[in-house]
This record gives sequence, structure tokens and C-alpha cells, in this order.
Amino acid sequence: MLTKIFSILLGLFMITSQAKAENKTSPDKPTVIILLGAPGSGKGTQSLELSKILGLPHISTGDLFRENIKLDTDLGKQAKGYLEKGALVPDELVFDILFDRISKSDCAKGYILDGFPRTSAQAHELEDTLRNKANFIIFNLKVSDAEIIRRLSGRLICKKCGRIYQKDTNPPKVAGVCDFCGGELYQRSDDKPEVVKERLRVYYEQTKPLEDFYKQQGMLIDIDAEGAPDTVEKSLEAKVKDLAPQLIKK
Ligand code: AMP
Repeated sequence: MLTKIFSILLGLFMITSQAKAENKTSPDKPTVIILLGAPGSGKGTQSLELSKILGLPHISTGDLFRENIKLDTDLGKQAKGYLEKGALVPDELVFDILFDRISKSDCAKGYILDGFPRTSAQAHELEDTLRNKANFIIFNLKVSDAEIIRRLSGRLICKKCGRIYQKDTNPPKVAGVCDFCGGELYQRSDDKPEVVKERLRVYYEQTKPLEDFYKQQGMLIDIDAEGAPDTVEKSLEAKVKDLAPQLIKK
């Protein structure tokens, strides 16, 4: 009997959760699109595409840290060791860099977050800061471990425009050169096998639990991201079209 009541309640909860995730957004508020997923799940590639389609800035906390490291700023000096090890940068430093970025005028209509939040404290901080002030669309890019390892070990990135290639499945036309801007391609130092292993461990320990956090609030939208980037992009675009039609340019 108790099991039956429990399963009815669970069913009701799942239906409510689903309904909430399908809720339309309010056109009067900025829309924050969050891409959750393991390293290599395609967050960067898909954010770049969505950013082009929707005209919203793509904010990658990882890119912000790499820029600061390149410019040798104080923040870059503090973050460098963590990135090299594949560890997470302490939350306080992440908040400094993220909240400074989203206060800029180009974020007024919304933005796409890639790589944030990554801890429970970050998810709570974002929620506390933006409660009732923004729409959230939270995508969870689901990819198998084998595919993640394959992607990370073959990933090449353009130094100039950030476009992402794959050695086997999506190589540039000329080795080492970006098809779009002619920039030089490089492998991220933290895409080396020993660091990838640590990044995945950290992901499972600290970031994956966020799926439950958002699922319980009925906000998580799972996306099968195992396939080709174009296919994934179409699923994401269709969802945005449905939930936030105001963002799709006519
Ligand atoms: P990504 O480019 O998103 O793979 O991030 C590269 C590295 O930047 C991560 O392995 C972390 O060291 C650091 N990083 C990026 N975003 C965060 C975050 N939200 N919290 C903590 N560390 C981060």
C-alpha cells in the first residue's frame, strides 16, 4: 500500500517537474541559458552556435580564466595552478570573474553560461542572485564516458576565434589552421590524458550532483549529445524556440 502511494506521489512529482521544465519564459526578463555536462560533452561548441543564433553572449568561465592567465593578471596567477591540475578554482574567485562579466551591458537580454555552475555553492549563489530577475533554461548535455574521452583527446581549438575541431571526425581542411579565420589550432594543456582523468573525477564528484538539484526543481532539460554537433544544435534550438520564442530572430 505504502509503495503504491509513494509511486503515485512520485508520478505526480515527475509530471509537475516536467511541466515546470516546459514552462514558457517571460519576455520581460533576461534569459539565462545554462549548459551542464561533462568536459567534452560539447558545451563550448553548442554555446558558440547558440550565441550566434540568439545573439546572446557566450560566457565560459574556463575561457575567462584562460584569458586572465594569458594576461598574467592577479586573478590569472591565482587560478593557474588549479587549471593545470584539472581541479576546480575556489568558488570565491569564480564568483568574482562571473558576476563581473554578467554585469556588462551586453548581458542585459540574457547570456549563455558554459562551465558555470560547477558546484552546489555556485548553483545556489546564482539562484540567490537572480531569483525572480531572470528566466532560466537549463540544458544537460548527456554523453557516454567513452565518447568524452575520445573527444577530449582529439580536440583542437582555434587560438583566434575559439572554434573547436576534432582530429578524426571534424578535422580542419589544412592541418593546424582554422577553416574560418586562419588562426592557429592548439590542444588545451588540460586535455592531456592525465589531466582529463582528474577533470572527469572532479566532474562526477562535484558537478554531476547539480543534475539532481535542477531536476528536483523541474528545471533540467536532458539533451542527447552523443551525436553530431548539428543534430545536437537542432535539438537545443527547437527547445529554445519553444520555451523562449522571443529570443529567436525572425
Ligand atoms: P572549462 O574550459 O570549462 O573546461 O574549464 C577549464 C578549467 O577552468 C576547469 O578545469 C577549472 O579549473 C576552471 N573552471 C572553469 N569554470 C569553473 C567553475 N565554474 N568553477 C571552478 N573552476 C572552474
